[in-house]
Amino acid sequence: MGRSLTERKLIMLPGPTNVPDRVMQAMITPITGHRGAEFHKLYEEIKENLKYVFQTQNDVFVLTSSGTGGIECAVNNLVNPGEKVLVPIFGVFSERLSDEVRRRGGIPVELSLPWGTAPKASEIREIIEREGDLKAIFMVYNETSTGVTARELPEIGKIAEENNLLLIVDAISILGGDKLPVDEWNIDMCITGSQKCLACPPGLAMVSVSQKAWEKIEKTEKKLMYFDLTRMKEFALKKETPFTPALPIFWALNEALKIIREEGLEKRIERHRRCAQAFYDAVEAYGLTVFPREKEIRSNTVIAINIPENVEDGKVRQIMREKYKVLIAGGMGKLKGKIFRIGCMGIISPAEVFITVNALGNALKEVGYDLSVEKGLEAAKKHFES
Ligand code: PLP
Repeated sequence: MGRSLTERKLIMLPGPTNVPDRVMQAMITPITGHRGAEFHKLYEEIKENLKYVFQTQNDVFVLTSSGTGGIECAVNNLVNPGEKVLVPIFGVFSERLSDEVRRRGGIPVELSLPWGTAPKASEIREIIEREGDLKAIFMVYNETSTGVTARELPEIGKIAEENNLLLIVDAISILGGDKLPVDEWNIDMCITGSQKCLACPPGLAMVSVSQKAWEKIEKTEKKLMYFDLTRMKEFALKKETPFTPALPIFWALNEALKIIREEGLEKRIERHRRCAQAFYDAVEAYGLTVFPREKEIRSNTVIAINIPENVEDGKVRQIMREKYKVLIAGGMGKLKGKIFRIGCMGIISPAEVFITVNALGNALKEVGYDLSVEKGLEAAKKHFES
């Protein structure tokens, strides 16, 4: 038996995130076969709405796997062993992306940056000129581990185009929560996950594939069977997936995408931006500092905050969880114990911002950190009045 309603927590993690009841209920749609008319209709609806969210005319596919499956799919379909690709490294997820390339036998040319910063278009250009024989750029758009968004992605897209390089973007923690027009920014493969800004349960990865990417895929050797995109393309003609899809989550995704269309992408992105700004101002009113120093690159979907000295990460999060029923995350890798991370994703609204700011402020006070909860709430409120 699962958790009862009274035990339910507010999920302010950088994924998975809170899921609307409408989406949860869609998962109890009776199971059907995945080779019949009902599934074909579901497939078509999901595809059309995904194209809207990705802002693309390219092909889109839904994979029964978490986001990492989408990454593995991109790398294995686009990189031949021995080929060099550029990977900017600015946190845990970009490290994983590089690792994925290495496991495939590719050669990641790493642009290693301090955590809390983002890759710049000029740095990317320099490496391309220096290396000469790169095939692609693989990069994370929103580094979930540091709360940084690579805001120069549109310029990087132009550079990729000029140099005839493929651009593959891990947008797992941002698509649907911030600006990302896939076609306009020349993104050849964009990858996201169901459990973040789309406000859907975990279990699906979604990828878009451009014509330029298809040309490369056709020439790529030795593909994995489960993640073979050419096979997915063949089945897509019949509005089917090659293997058994996770039907309940497909129904959930369909509902989650309908909600996005009802709200409108632009409005949704603005709502994320506003809530993120409210979070940033509130934590600064508490005397805390934001992990990425440069304001421009602070993420609108993952809020990373430095933990003050003498404050114990685990204790604060325990109080928030047990007393206020709010879940937030700690740091990953070398940032473990050093930062808090708050997800600002999906259904995020002033209500969740106030509850979280209140819980964080009170928990910090309980462990002896001097602050005014009222000041934090007041700072957040300003963003919702204007
Ligand atoms: N890439 C980024 C940027 C992420 O934020 C995550 C998950 O948090 C992943 C990859 C891995 O996704 P998953 O855990 O769904 O496999």
